[in-house]
Amino acid sequence: MTAVLPDTTRLVPSTLREEDAVLDVVVPAGDGWVGEIAAGSTLRIVDLHGNQAVDTLFYDAADLANRYSAVDTLREQGAAYLTTGSRLLSHRQDVLATIVADMCGRHDTLGGACAQESNVVRYGPQTRHMHACRVTFLRKLAEIGRDVRDLAPNVNFFMNVPLTDEGGLTFEDGLSGPGKYVEVRAERDLVVLISNCPQLNNPCNGYDPTPVRLLGFPA
Ligand SMILES: [Zn+2]
Repeated sequence: MTAVLPDTTRLVPSTLREEDAVLDVVVPAGDGWVGEIAAGSTLRIVDLHGNQAVDTLFYDAADLANRYSAVDTLREQGAAYLTTGSRLLSHRQDVLATIVADMCGRHDTLGGACAQESNVVRYGPQTRHMHACRVTFLRKLAEIGRDVRDLAPNVNFFMNVPLTDEGGLTFEDGLSGPGKYVEVRAERDLVVLISNCPQLNNPCNGYDPTPVRLLGFPA
């Protein structure tokens, strides 16, 4: 297997100033967040301690059925990873958001979210009751009156899931580090759903899930 490193030309710092943020939330390790991001505004996700996967779904706030589609996003950009310039498409081919800054260089959208069921399959029956992203997604969806029908394959910000030369997928140690961030500009009014991944059975969180910070900037 070849360790393909991110294209460093895609590392683009933010042009926004932290003091201009109108949203400033720390999401504890293993917790989640759901909220609205207005069209034209920007959400910065900060990997405070490094190597923390942030499972994220985007929905058109005007119609939550118009949601993020990993397969449409990857097909249209012709590349397997997300970074600066990636346009996050819905299954109706609407551009929901654009990654406008990125200090990590690679984000996954192939690996999906961890679940109690997949933990059992991958890591054994003793993991059945470990907390998982799917649980967090469902709990936060319930807060806005939505349910399992709104789940779809998600973005894993800061998660490193390299494709092998043979076409395989592996969960590898992260490429992110303390203080690295990614910024997403909303191209329409969005609902954003986040699970700050609690996974302890693979290296996606360095076996030590940690808090992340969300900063929101007006248009
Ligand atoms: Zn997870």
